[in-house]
Amino acid sequence: MAENGKVILVLADGLRADTAMHEMGFLESAVAHGRASRRVMLCELPSLSRSLYHTIHTGLPPQVHGVISNDMVRTGEHDNLFSLARAAGLRTAAAAYSWFSELYNHTPFDPVMDREVDDESRTIQHGRFYKDGAFPDTELFRAADMLVRRFEPDYMLVHPMGCDHIGHLHGGESAIYKQTAANIDNLLALSAPGWLECGYQVLVTSDHGMDAEGWHGGTRQEVRAIPFYHLGVEEGRPVPETASQLSVAPTVLKLLGQPVPPSMTAPAL
Ligand SMILES: [Zn+2]
Repeated sequence: MAENGKVILVLADGLRADTAMHEMGFLESAVAHGRASRRVMLCELPSLSRSLYHTIHTGLPPQVHGVISNDMVRTGEHDNLFSLARAAGLRTAAAAYSWFSELYNHTPFDPVMDREVDDESRTIQHGRFYKDGAFPDTELFRAADMLVRRFEPDYMLVHPMGCDHIGHLHGGESAIYKQTAANIDNLLALSAPGWLECGYQVLVTSDHGMDAEGWHGGTRQEVRAIPFYHLGVEEGRPVPETASQLSVAPTVLKLLGQPVPPSMTAPAL
């Protein structure tokens, strides 16, 4: 595993593992050619966004970190990828939904003043945040590309909302949900090779899945099974063992060349 690297974490909100494997031909071709590894993860519970954003960034289950509802609007406690990167003197960035600004910069989100953030003193130093779940994934990826070129962050979160938004409207087995996943795959095909050339390791995962009726939050397989791709590995392959979502945070820290705090007990992948 490469160390002292830079990491881009793409969190495709509401993306099911089976949809990723069936519809995301760029990612799957990278796996087939040994340029990426792919795992299936089971997300923590409740299978809700705000809870799992913080789980992905702290390596802690919601019962431990305390953000156990989407309606808990507060700044997240505990060491997290952004705060640990900042403490190590690394540069942080995010193109993400407003809840990330609330979790790591400040709350409540001001849709005017918090929309664009370039402030070295913030936990997320360079942020481009959106408030509308219908914000186009295409624009989101352009913002991410801009952040890479302008600021060369060491850790950057890229957070497209399309699958979650469309999944709630049309269900997680609808044609348009699958097309939305395919669009994110295409956006990755356009952006990821450049990120890899710039020396980034690129991880692609999700917070939770989506059921056929357009919901998530509970325990069923279709809302818990999510993908985890790693582009930039030496010898990529599909890994048959199911991984824990708690492993995302220590994996990112290891790729950044940073120590993993004792609070993160799951192994790095
Ligand atoms: Zn949702």
